[in-house]
Amino acid sequence: MPLLVMKFGGTSVANIDRIRRAAKRVGVEVAKGYDVIVIVSAMAGRTNELVGWVEEISPLYDAREYDAVVSSGEAVTAGLMAVTLQEMDVPARSWQGWQVPLITTSAHSAARIEEIPTDNINAKFGEGMRVAVVAGFQGVSPEGRITTLGRGGSDTTAVAFAAAFGAERCDIYTDVDGVYTTDPRITDKARKLDKIAFEEMLELASLGAKVLQTRSVELAMRYNVRLRVLSSFEEQSDDAGTLVCAEEEIMESNVVNGIAYSRDEAKMTLISVADRPGIAAAIFTPLSDAGVNVDMIVQNISEEGRTDMTFSCPNNQVARAEKALLEAKEKGDINFHDLVADTNVAKISAVGIGMRSQSGVAARMFQTLRDEGINIKVISTSEIKISVLIDRKYMELAVQALHDAFELDKVA
Ligand code: ADP
Ligand code: ASP
Ligand code: MG
Repeated sequence: MPLLVMKFGGTSVANIDRIRRAAKRVGVEVAKGYDVIVIVSAMAGRTNELVGWVEEISPLYDAREYDAVVSSGEAVTAGLMAVTLQEMDVPARSWQGWQVPLITTSAHSAARIEEIPTDNINAKFGEGMRVAVVAGFQGVSPEGRITTLGRGGSDTTAVAFAAAFGAERCDIYTDVDGVYTTDPRITDKARKLDKIAFEEMLELASLGAKVLQTRSVELAMRYNVRLRVLSSFEEQSDDAGTLVCAEEEIMESNVVNGIAYSRDEAKMTLISVADRPGIAAAIFTPLSDAGVNVDMIVQNISEEGRTDMTFSCPNNQVARAEKALLEAKEKGDINFHDLVADTNVAKISAVGIGMRSQSGVAARMFQTLRDEGINIKVISTSEIKISVLIDRKYMELAVQALHDAFELDKVA
């Protein structure tokens, strides 16, 4: 039978009523003749609550136990969804990551999927099961411990299952009706895109647009999964939502197609480090060993052999970063006068494949921010994106101003 993957995010399974509504959507596809693999997230807010508990006990928690705790949200919704489907007389069974088993790396809290054997689930389909409900976000390490795939990881579970089982399509049901030019919660001028290229979606996701987890887009691109984002709250037609697809499938496109933001960034500066060969390695190796995800890096011009080194990382990794750098200082690997953390910054990015061939985007971005009186703290660019670090209090204003400046409310 043809197979679909349908993923329901947290708000789509936030309570029993919503689970029923989602189950009805699944029932519609089953009635059309599809076997379905349903991937569920935890109920809205649940993962945050679980993470909060772990962090309350220890900011430097053991990641294996973090995974043991935070994976539980998905275990609950998988079981509840299976019961709901059974109530509707749809033969369904739930699967936790380890039961599939979805094998991942041992990188706890940020594990990558290594393998999804299809035989267990396919055997059940062979026995008449019509829906396999799989707990998203979780897997099992080669050591046999529960792992999780990073926040938003159920999207990645969904795409990986679609690839492994050769699904006709992977539908991501969420609380917005598609991918927009920016987060529709920030400006009501945000425009829904009918299609978006893999490359652009990849950048937007990695720069903070949490509508899809970055890794899910990477996998969809690599395995050519037909990936669609749509609302679980509206009646759906076959062309609803946004299709994430190859660039060649898209006829018209603006130079800039999206503005992304990432709220919880921090900027850290090492004041007066010796400017000598190997200093960057001496700073960033311990950070990497401590699991700090360094993003932007700026090294100042040196004066009298000393320089300042600035980098950005997620806000909740500042404690880890400080610990790693102070330890490296104690060991004598690096020497700095001061370590300053600015935890009140946000990153704003403009993304568009049109930037490859059109210049002037950076200038327009900087002028727009200047006109709003917003100071830029750090800049970084790549082929199809420009990112800036600014004070967090101006984040919404910056997104709205850039959305206007690049006329994203209008079709190309
Ligand atoms: P789910 O729980 O269904 O996985 P998420 O909260 O992870 O949902 O992702 C959906 C949210 O992503 C939306 O509610 C929206 O606020 C946010 N978002 C950010 N950027 C965008 C964008 N460009 N297009 C659509 N939604 C976006
Ligand atoms: N529940 C997890 C999270 O909130 C995974 C997901 O929803 O995709 O990050
Ligand atoms: Mg999500």
